[in-house]
Amino acid sequence: MTSNPSRTCLALATIVLAWPAGAASQSPTDWAIHDLERPQPPLVTAGTFGTQDAPGKPPSDAIVLFDGTDLSVWKSSKDGGAAGWKVENGYMEIVKGTGSIETKQAFGDIQLHVEFRTPTPPEGESQERGNSGVFPMGRYEVQILDSYENKTYPDGQAAALYGQYPPLVNASRPPGVWQVYDIAFQAPRFDADGQVVSPARATVFHNGVLVQHASELTGPTAHKKRPPYEAHGEKLPISLQDHSNPTRFRNIWVRELQPRPSPSK
Ligand code: MG
Repeated sequence: MTSNPSRTCLALATIVLAWPAGAASQSPTDWAIHDLERPQPPLVTAGTFGTQDAPGKPPSDAIVLFDGTDLSVWKSSKDGGAAGWKVENGYMEIVKGTGSIETKQAFGDIQLHVEFRTPTPPEGESQERGNSGVFPMGRYEVQILDSYENKTYPDGQAAALYGQYPPLVNASRPPGVWQVYDIAFQAPRFDADGQVVSPARATVFHNGVLVQHASELTGPTAHKKRPPYEAHGEKLPISLQDHSNPTRFRNIWVRELQPRPSPSK
């Protein structure tokens, strides 16, 4: 069977993870069962599915963050200047030392699709092989690593919520093969005093396999420590990590999700 990295995860993510604006954001008890007056979910034209040779198309309501041509929606996390990563042949590649990059636009609750390819032949071991990361809100890392026959600490392997949750399984493909993360991220909620009302939550499919199931983050990502939350805005940029390894990316898109009511309300 032809390898098809996007088909399963895109379908799952679209069907399972997305809650549309309007109808689904309201409590079931606000409506009589099967009430025909209840708002219809918005229409979305589904995307198409990619292959190893070519990425698919995003759904119609997605914001495209990288279509293989340029880094115009990204900036340097270090100084806010132009993103320093290389773009060629339909992918972007980390350029060691140029620093992490982040979106110019800020996001809160999202569905995020990211395709990545760790370097081949592989170089380095453990955390030094194909390391990068996807950070919703710039502070909560879904780890990117070459975890194909490359042992490291479980809460730092591919698809870990770094330092907190190992993936449920290791669904990694070999180096040099395109892989997919489909992430549903719910931003943390804070009250007026900066206390956590509800923690950040992340659900992740890795190559179509569920690897994080509404995992509740204990706070922002850090190395060798687990700091507590610090209150922050409702929307912040998404960032990608420069960890000095030339990992590549293609076909990155995001859908903004209607915020759900706080559990305290
Ligand atoms: Mg990383």
